[in-house]
Amino acid sequence: MSTKYVYFFGDGKGEGNGKMKELLGGKGANLAEMVNIGLPVPAGFTITTETCTHFYANNKQFPAELKAQVEEAIKKIEKAMGAELGSKTNPLLVSCRSGARESMPGMMDTVLNIGLNDETVLALAKQSGNERFAWDSYRRFVQMYGDVVLDLKPRSKTERDPFEHALEHKKEKAGVQEDNQLSVAQLKELVQEFKDLIKDRTGKSFPTDPMEQVWGAVGAVFGSWGNDRAVVYRRTYGIPHEWGTAANVQAMVFGNLGDDCATGVALTRDCAIGTPGFCGDYLINAQGEDVVAGIRTPLRIEETLSKDMPKSYEQLDEIGKKLEKHFKEVQDIEFTIQRNKVWMLQTRNAKRTGFAAVRIAVDFLEEGLIDEKEMLQKRRLPADDLNQLLQPIFDPAAKKQADKEGRLLAKGITAGPGAASGKIVFFAEDAERMHEKDPKTDLILVRRETSPEDLRGMKAAKGILTALGGASSHAALVSRQMGKACIVGCGALNIDYDKGTITVGSKVLKAGDFLSMDGFTGEVFEGKVTTKPSEVIQVLINKTMKPEESEVFRRFDKLMKIADKHRKLRVRTNADLPNQAEEAISFGAEGIGLCRTEHMFFDHLDEIREMIVADNLEHREKALAKLLPFQRKDFAGLFKAMDGKPVTIRLIDPPLHEFLSDAHLESDPKLAEKLSKWSGKSVEDVKKRVEELHEFNPMLGHRGCRLGIVYPEITRMQARAIFEAAVEVQKAGAKVFPEVMVPLAGFATEFKNQEKIIRETAEKVFKETGTKVEYMVGTMIEIPRAAVRADQIAENAEFFSFGTNDLTQTTLGMSRDDYGPFIGFYRENDIIGNDPFQQIDQDGVGELMKIGVERGRKVKSKLKIGICGEHGGDPSSVMFCHRIGLDYVSCSPFRVPIARLAAAQAAVEG
Ligand code: PEP
Ligand code: MG
Repeated sequence: MSTKYVYFFGDGKGEGNGKMKELLGGKGANLAEMVNIGLPVPAGFTITTETCTHFYANNKQFPAELKAQVEEAIKKIEKAMGAELGSKTNPLLVSCRSGARESMPGMMDTVLNIGLNDETVLALAKQSGNERFAWDSYRRFVQMYGDVVLDLKPRSKTERDPFEHALEHKKEKAGVQEDNQLSVAQLKELVQEFKDLIKDRTGKSFPTDPMEQVWGAVGAVFGSWGNDRAVVYRRTYGIPHEWGTAANVQAMVFGNLGDDCATGVALTRDCAIGTPGFCGDYLINAQGEDVVAGIRTPLRIEETLSKDMPKSYEQLDEIGKKLEKHFKEVQDIEFTIQRNKVWMLQTRNAKRTGFAAVRIAVDFLEEGLIDEKEMLQKRRLPADDLNQLLQPIFDPAAKKQADKEGRLLAKGITAGPGAASGKIVFFAEDAERMHEKDPKTDLILVRRETSPEDLRGMKAAKGILTALGGASSHAALVSRQMGKACIVGCGALNIDYDKGTITVGSKVLKAGDFLSMDGFTGEVFEGKVTTKPSEVIQVLINKTMKPEESEVFRRFDKLMKIADKHRKLRVRTNADLPNQAEEAISFGAEGIGLCRTEHMFFDHLDEIREMIVADNLEHREKALAKLLPFQRKDFAGLFKAMDGKPVTIRLIDPPLHEFLSDAHLESDPKLAEKLSKWSGKSVEDVKKRVEELHEFNPMLGHRGCRLGIVYPEITRMQARAIFEAAVEVQKAGAKVFPEVMVPLAGFATEFKNQEKIIRETAEKVFKETGTKVEYMVGTMIEIPRAAVRADQIAENAEFFSFGTNDLTQTTLGMSRDDYGPFIGFYRENDIIGNDPFQQIDQDGVGELMKIGVERGRKVKSKLKIGICGEHGGDPSSVMFCHRIGLDYVSCSPFRVPIARLAAAQAAVEG
């Protein structure tokens, strides 16, 4: 049997359905689904994603069976719509649009009005009774076909689109402002000029045969899966290149036949901040692409459509409700109103800010549309997006000042929440370059409108500001998804790319000047306006707001509590100081998974350096005795802050030269002398000792437990500080639970060596103080040997914690400090899908983790196992940790809420 490449929808029935996204893409599957639930959809068919993969695997050739299947489906559209492709009396026009499994807004190509030629245009004119409309449609078609299928593009960054240029020229000559003021004769001239342009620049003639036009469009749509911006988008959002796109060929309906026609895009709820109620953009007497392209600033559906077209508004509202109930998700729809009848062209789950996602999820739950498990779904609430609730807002004092100084420049449409302040940059490639050069410089990308080519620049900028477009324009969708502050449709801005200026009234700002924007209100300010933390931060961390004062916090808190109810993994934090620990507890941390003791040393450099230059036991112990009280105090602070929650304290890990090296001596000319005085050595001997400490490859040198093994007095001092602090805090009435952790052990003997010292010291302290505390001794698993021989190590260790930073570095043989120069290239060229230091390399490092868990638990079935590398706060890594049976993840304080949600998603979705 031959493969089915084409799925028809129309006449009340779709061959596909909403579950077939892999094969039909999101758009195709949902078009079929909408037909199946009785919504008005123009007839059409979907060419499967498998066809696209075949196309790429076969040198851009279609499968042999496709031709007959497409021809048959065209016949079905003709029957359903009562029109015929190429007919000189009753012509059918179709569109061809892309549609991947996951939506990639604006990244791929579309062709509209296919089927028009010098003859069918006359029929369309007659049939519609609107000659201007027919010729304008033809003009648009030739332009789009030339651009998308025949690849007629501007030749440089500054050259204008040649079609647009011709159009502007025509309008100037005709003395009119708008496209729709051109006469039929002028449109006819334009069609000819466009055709000539195509011939001149490409050497090809514009095809007149409608079927040839269909095939050209389908090829171009499949081809656009491979264009640069689509590739960058997929890389950014982790969409596999192998998926391919579907192509949807569908009968055209027209929103530009007159004032009883319109076209629009809408959301069933606001997706910038999550407010309930239909919202969106529409244009009367316009074609769909005009809204999405952001060329004309559209009207707001919720404000004026009910007055402009009351009957259509009612139909649309009903459709919106039906869709939300059916899909259990906020929908992002495209529609056309043709002579007062609403036609649905697309529906998909709406992209939203993290800010809106939380509100919508909690509201859906409270409205009874979904249950808790549905609420927690990853696709509804990507855990990383919680970051946006922790996003900055304008500092009210600075904002007041800016208002007072009259620095408010303009107001636009809010498209992405968060306040941002930075330097103006006009071109995406400049933004990208400046960001690469200095990631600390905040940038605001200012454009007339954004196009998909601007994606890289949008990534580099803190905020995006456009003069044109509405809440559903490309800039809005993409920046919302990225969680960037974004304002669109800020019409007061007069942007001159050539001069590099923005003019607002009498004010002129140049590239590089500061600009500030508030994505919550749409306000744009000249100069800097300082930003400050979000409401969640104000309630939880700064305590400058009461919980009951913030609705944002109420929903966040409710979500977090529900996540906690469902998750199995515990979430701890990596913290070295009491205030970090307190912050983390506010974010919901259930313990400290990693306290890097050496971080505490940075406040006591003199003492640690004295210990380092000592070259005998007596001197070292003398210096260590000075460090002991500081460490004890720090540990006591942590124990108090954690109030009985487990605290994993890791013994010193880094190579000693991090505290004292040639570079330190060079930058502080008095240091050698000071060290000579403390140690009783000559300055020369001090320098010699420092030289001895130099290592060629310090990450694989004398570090980790190797230090405590060669210098047991260091371990003794640290263990004493831990247990004395624990006893002190316990005696004061608080609970303590220290977990002493040995770093970088690879051999069971290394661990045993350190464990013995730790336990002996504990016993000594307990005897001296007459108090015992409960504690555990465990190890990090951060070199491959430790994972492989986890069984031997588990004989003695009471817990494991995967140090995936070092485990990644040692497994991949890739230095965690030196991988920067090539990782970008690796990712761009698909050598490695993700940055392995951010997301666990599950096939490599992950396999070792699995081995470590299995072998460790074979010896001790209840062995407590966690992770404390940076990956502990990365959602996909957290989900992996859940799957391999870890007990907890540990991450930086601000990532704790993200890890809590990801852990719940792992439990709910498996
Ligand atoms: C690790 O290696 O993953 C770890 C947590 O230790 P550090 O980052 O301090 O080397
Ligand atoms: Mg490490």
